[in-house]
Formats: sequence, structure tokens, C-alpha cells
Amino acid sequence: MDACVKSATLSGVDGRMLEVTAVAEPGLPGFEQRGMHGWGLGQRADRAWSAVTASGLPWPRSRIIVTVAPDWLPKHDSAVDLAMAVAVLAADCTVPAHAAGGIMYYAGLGADGRVTPVPGVLPAAVEAAKAGCRALVVATENTAEARLVPGVPVIGASCLGEVTRWLCGGPAPEVMVPRPPAPSAAGDMSDIRGNRTACLAAEVSAAGGHHLSLSGLPGSGLALLAARIPGLLPLLDEAAALEVTAVHSAAGALDPTAPLKTVPPFIAPHHSAGPAGLAGGWESGMLRPGAASLAHRGVLFLDQAPEFGRETLDALRSPTETGTITPQRSDSHGYRRSLPARFILITASAPCQCLALRSDLVQCTCTPAARGRYAARLSGPLRDRVSLRAVMTPPESGQAGEPAEATAVIAARVAAARERAALRLAGTPWRVNAEIPRDELLRRFMPGGGREPIERATSLGLVSDFAAADALRVAWTLADLNGRAMPTRGDCAAALGLRMGEMR
Ligand SMILES: [Zn+2]
Repeated sequence: MDACVKSATLSGVDGRMLEVTAVAEPGLPGFEQRGMHGWGLGQRADRAWSAVTASGLPWPRSRIIVTVAPDWLPKHDSAVDLAMAVAVLAADCTVPAHAAGGIMYYAGLGADGRVTPVPGVLPAAVEAAKAGCRALVVATENTAEARLVPGVPVIGASCLGEVTRWLCGGPAPEVMVPRPPAPSAAGDMSDIRGNRTACLAAEVSAAGGHHLSLSGLPGSGLALLAARIPGLLPLLDEAAALEVTAVHSAAGALDPTAPLKTVPPFIAPHHSAGPAGLAGGWESGMLRPGAASLAHRGVLFLDQAPEFGRETLDALRSPTETGTITPQRSDSHGYRRSLPARFILITASAPCQCLALRSDLVQCTCTPAARGRYAARLSGPLRDRVSLRAVMTPPESGQAGEPAEATAVIAARVAAARERAALRLAGTPWRVNAEIPRDELLRRFMPGGGREPIERATSLGLVSDFAAADALRVAWTLADLNGRAMPTRGDCAAALGLRMGEMR
């Protein structure tokens, strides 16, 4: 008797269908496995046996051959476990093979028969719906995530016994609906005092998707301002929410009680993170998204940015321009896969290393050469890609400074500006000004006489051609924020000022 059921594996952040076939042959009882590159054979058979017997089910008294196809796809270490156990039981006629077939099983299995949650449920569910599976069986903890995808009925199971009883015609397992978490208080822009230019730069950054570099003494509120920027962004629309959720799912970083990511993410990796921590990398045959991908459609914040390694900062060059990232190493088959990484980069840096590392110092003790080297650590790899620069100052003693406008007020202007840009960019793949490629910008979005300040700066050698084009993108965002159909001279001059960190 043979039985075939479906499972899935991840390829980057996409799900790929797997066929799991079990054949029961007469002969000496045994377990043979094909199409898993041979890893963990003994351990896997042991676990399947333990889960089946712990569930009070009979283990086949025949020779069982399990095949997982296609052979060349990398398989997640545990997400095929449930499919394998069901296929074995169906081949042995413990459950009817016709009832088990046509269903995708995407879950791990404990030695005690528990069905365990795994990463990547959303991409697997998308694949199940696309393939027209009759149902998708996942661990109870993964039910809410799987149900985000319309088009495939989802069964949440807590143990193997529940699954086999259901396949034998019993009731579907009860699904506990998790309680949503209390909304977190993210803080408001009005917490920021003074620092008007930095607040304007944050608004422009949110409106046009431009990268922003903040600098200032410790205590100036750099990290505070950075953390307020996701609150200025519109909530993710349905397509973006699913995109972001798929990345977090593949990384195993979803909250099971509220899996759909509707709020733009804010990801702040520590400066000890290496290139793989930021860019993502291969881990036992699977591509795991890094911080840059987790920040997709949100904010990637590098606090004390010059402290990040040179290689780590270099890894951000490509995504800050293209919105995708390709981890360095390829998988064992030589495939190189890209991950989505369209984020707003916010960096924060102190003027020098001594002030960055010692909060008790008031006066810098570095040599001018050391200060120069410290600044160059950041500006080298990312200089051209950062469109906005602002210096923040701590409040002077006794003077609190004017509070900034409320988040809701600024977010409304940002939303209106983004709508204007979206209207202009309708029919293109770009959503915000920062995404427009340079040649398209120069071909389709050249303001008339208004761009004169940028052209003058280019001819004087103050900015590169690359930087001039980017200043033009920022000028469009300033026009969008002010409800103008076209950037004016003033917008172009302000864009240059913000770029060079010279706006007061
Ligand atoms: Zn110093």
C-alpha cells in the first residue's frame, strides 16, 4: 500500500510544495528514507516511531520507504515531520489514504506525539492555497498565522492523535483562539523637545522613504526620535502586511497571538551584529532573513552606527538602493537567493568615539585625526545613500525647549504627501520618491527651473551626480508635503541643505 501527502519547505521567504510518499512493502520491518539528503535518518525514524506509539497508534510491521520530492529542495528540519508520520500511518491503513491525501501538513512532531509550531507557516499556507489543497494542518499555535491566507481551510492540531481521529472521520480538533495582546504605547513625537530641523528631517524621511543620519551628543534624543519614525508611517496595506508577515514568519519571529504585521516594523540590531545578522544567511540549508529583511517596509535603526563593522555596513549598500538583499554564501546547490529589504535606514552617531562610549564625559578627549576617522567609518560605505542629515542637541539646562508637534498631526501630513506621490507614480513599481531609479527620475520627473540650485551645486563640485539625483527625490518629497505640483527652487535648496546637514 502506498500513500502520498503534501508538505512544504521554504525557499527564501517563499513556500515550495513537497510530496511525501510512504510505501509499505512486505518484508523485514524497517524504515528507509529517500530524498532528504540523508540527514538525521535514524533520529527522524526514531522520532516518528515515538510519536506514533506515544499516541497509542500501531507502528507498521512491514518495510516502510518514505520519499520526499522534489529531491533538490532544501527541507526544513522539522516542518515535514507531521506529514511523514501521517504518510506512514496511511500506507499502513491506520488512517484512510484517500482521506489523508490532498492535504498539506506543515508542523513538527514531538517524541510524545505533540504537534509543534514551526517557522514559515504563512508562506506554506500561500503555497497550499495556490495548489488547491483540501486543507492545511498546522500546530494550534500557528493557526492564526495560517488563517491570514484565504482559500485554504486551516486545521490546528495539538497532537498526532487528534489528526488521525479527524482523518478517520472524527470531529476536527477544536481551535483555541488566542487573545490579542494589549496595544503597546509607542510614544509620541511631542516627547521630542527643540531640535526642529531633526524633526523636519524625520517627517521628510517618513514621507518619501529617505534614509536619515542623526548625530549629536549622548542625551540629545537620537534614539528617541528614531523610535518615533515608524509612528509617522501609514499602516501597512494588505499586500505589504502579508509581505512583511512572510519575512517574519520565515525568521520564526512572529507573535502567535497577533501574527499579521500591520504596523511598520522598527528593527534596531546591536552594533555587534555581523554581516549575516544584518543581511541574513544560510542555516542548515535554509535561508534565514536578517535584520535588514525584518525591517522590510519599516525602519532599520543603527544606534552608534560607526561602531558597526565595516563589512556589516557594506552589506547595507545594495538594499538601501535596490530594496533587496542577497546573503553572501549560496546554498549547497549553488543557488543565490534574494530577500526583500526595502527599509528606511536611520543611523545615529556621536561626534566621536569617546563621547559615544562614555556617558560621563562632557568634553571630547579625542585627537582631531581620531574624530575624522570615526566619522569616516560611517560615511565611507553609506555616504551617497543617506539623503538627510541632522544634528541634535541636548536641551539646555533650565530650558525644556518647544515640544514637537503630535505624531497624529505629522502622520496626517505624511499620509497626504505619500498619496500625492502615489498618484504621480501610479502604474510604476515605485510607491515613494526614494524608490525612483535615477534614470527614470531624470527622464520623467525633472522639475523645470526649480532645479537650478542642485545644478549649481553639481557644477561647483559640491555634490556628485548620484547625490544630485537623490537631492531631487527629496525636493519632490518637500513639494508633496507642501501640496505643490512641482518642486520649487526653495524645495531644491532645502533638499540640498538637508542632505549636507546644513539646514538650521
Ligand atoms: Zn572624543
